[in-house]
Amino acid sequence: MNNKIFVTKSFLPDKAKYFSYLENIFDNNLPLTNNANLVITLENTLKNFLQVPYFQYVTNGTIAIQLAIHALGLENCEIITTPFTYVATINSILWEKCTPVFVDIKTDNFTIDPDKIEEKITSKTKAILAVHVFGFACDVHKIQAIADKYSLKVIYDGAHAFTSKYEGKSLLSYGDISTCSFHATKLFHTIEGGAVITSSQELYDKCGLLKQFGHSSDTYYCVGINAKQSEFHAAMGLCNIEYLSEILVKRRDITEIYRAELQNIVEIPEKQENLRLNHGYFPVLFKDEAELLHIFNVLAKENIFPRRYFYPSLNTLLFLSYQPCPISEDIASRIACLPLYPQLAHADVYRICSLIKKELAS
Ligand SMILES: *Cc1c(COP(=O)(O)O)cnc(C)c1O
Repeated sequence: MNNKIFVTKSFLPDKAKYFSYLENIFDNNLPLTNNANLVITLENTLKNFLQVPYFQYVTNGTIAIQLAIHALGLENCEIITTPFTYVATINSILWEKCTPVFVDIKTDNFTIDPDKIEEKITSKTKAILAVHVFGFACDVHKIQAIADKYSLKVIYDGAHAFTSKYEGKSLLSYGDISTCSFHATKLFHTIEGGAVITSSQELYDKCGLLKQFGHSSDTYYCVGINAKQSEFHAAMGLCNIEYLSEILVKRRDITEIYRAELQNIVEIPEKQENLRLNHGYFPVLFKDEAELLHIFNVLAKENIFPRRYFYPSLNTLLFLSYQPCPISEDIASRIACLPLYPQLAHADVYRICSLIKKELAS
C-alpha cells in the first residue's frame, strides 16, 4: 500500500536530541518562555548564519509582517503589494488597517513587476510589501529605487527566502524590514515561528518592544502585542539547524531530477541570475487549468497530492474590491508545487515524473 505523498512533510530531528533540551528544562526548572536561554541562543545562531545585523525571533511569520507594518508606522495608508502570495501577506495588511493595492507579477519568477508599481502610487501610498515567492528574488534594486524616489518603506515577506542568497548575501537582508516564517511546512522550522530582520537598530528595538506588550520591566512605552516565542519551539530550531546543509542538498537533488525529467513536458521557471536558490518549492506551470486538474486527478489515484500554490490570485478575494491582475490570475490558474521534502525517496520522484509524462508527453 502506497503511503500518501503530500506537497511537503515536516522535518523531524533526532528525538533523543530534542528530548534532551526538554529534559534540561524539566530537571532544572528553567524558564519556559519570555526570551529565555534557548530563544536567545537560536536568535544568535540564526543571525550569525544569515549574517544580518538585527534579528527578532517571533511566534510566526504572519505576526512578523504585522510587527513590520506596525513598527514602520504604516497605519491608514495604501500598501503596494502582490496578489501572488499566501493570504497571510494580505491579511497582515488588512489587520493593520491598511489597504492592499495590487500590482501584477512578472512571468519569469512570479514576483511583483517593478515596472508596474509607479502607476499605482497615490498620495496615500506609504510602502511596498513584496514577496520573494518560492525563494526567488524580487527585483530588489528597482524596488528600492522607486521607494527612494517616492519616500516609501519597503517590506519583504521572506517566508520562502530562508537560505536563499542574492548577489552573495541573504535575500532576507534587503528592504527596511524582511520577515521570515519557520512554520512546520517550511524548509527550516521551529514548529511555529517567524522572524523580523532589519539593519536598523531603531526598528529592531521597536519590534523587540512591540513583541513583548510594549513594555520593558515596569516602563510602558506603547501598545504592544505578545509575539514572544517559547523555549520548546526554540529547542526544535536548535535541533533542526544542525541538519540544514543536509536538507538543502537533498532538496536540490530532488529538484534536479524533476528538472531533468519534466523539461519540455511542463513549464519550469528558469534559474535566476545571481541567486542561490534554497529549493523550498518546485513550482511547475501547466498549459491551462484543465491540464492541471487532469494531472491532479491522475496523481490523486496514486495517493500523490501536489498543491495549487498560490491559488487563487488574491486580487480575486471576495471580501476585497476587485483590482485586475491578469498575469497573476493566469499563473494562479495553472501553477502547482510538486512534492518536495528531504525524506521523499528518489524512486517516488521518478514515479511522479513518469505519471505526468505518460499523460503529457506527445
Ligand atoms: C507561510 C507563509 C506566511 C505565514 O507564515 P506563518 O509562520 O505560517 O504565519 C506568510 N507569507 C508566505 C508567503 C508564506 O508562505
